[in-house]
Amino acid sequence: MIKTAKEQFLQKHNYQSLNIKAALFDMDGVLFNSMPLHAKAWVEALRKLGINFSEYEVYLNEGRTGFSTIDEQFLKQFGRHSTEQEQREIYAQKSAIFKSMPKPAPITGTLDIVKYLANNKIARLVVTGSGEETTLNRVAEHYPNLFDRKQMVTAHDVKLGKPHPEPYLMGLSKAQVAANEAIVIENAPLGIRAGVAAGIFTIGINTGILKREDLINAGADLVFDNMHEFLLSIEEIIH
Ligand code: CA
Repeated sequence: MIKTAKEQFLQKHNYQSLNIKAALFDMDGVLFNSMPLHAKAWVEALRKLGINFSEYEVYLNEGRTGFSTIDEQFLKQFGRHSTEQEQREIYAQKSAIFKSMPKPAPITGTLDIVKYLANNKIARLVVTGSGEETTLNRVAEHYPNLFDRKQMVTAHDVKLGKPHPEPYLMGLSKAQVAANEAIVIENAPLGIRAGVAAGIFTIGINTGILKREDLINAGADLVFDNMHEFLLSIEEIIH
């Protein structure tokens, strides 16, 4: 399965080789099990405005910037764009609800993956559409000495956000590697599309409520149901 996936990847992008030097990790749903909380916070914040946004839709839209998520819902439900003020206010409400919730635990098994990569001298970067300082600060707490804060790509760095390849292209640039020298680890369809659009070997881990097909259809080069399954295959992927 992995050999075939790699061959298909090389053929699709017309690369000569896949020589992994860096791993670009999404944060929500990959480093932390924060998606159930984000989903509840989004549903609650938008419900107050009469916008019906389901938890499944939150997962499908995951990776978009908060402002873009709000704007899309306004277009869909009110037939107009949201104003910048509305975006700021609604995003602030969503953030406040999220902050009032318990702190998300790390995703089971991710630490083993990150440590494996560190032991194999593969650079590790966080590439996220999130700007939640509390969660960003907890990376160092739960993954000590495994990620460099200065190398993180966050909501503060990117203009376009996933599914645009910009965040992952910025990640490649920060890691100083080419697209065929990295892997992307993602849990969300839009994040997977961003990784694929950046020309990077993109691994989908289905850590949430989506169907496996949602990740496959987004174009993931490989899909695993959990981090444990990924760990069992990681050696074959990296080498
Ligand atoms: Ca994610």
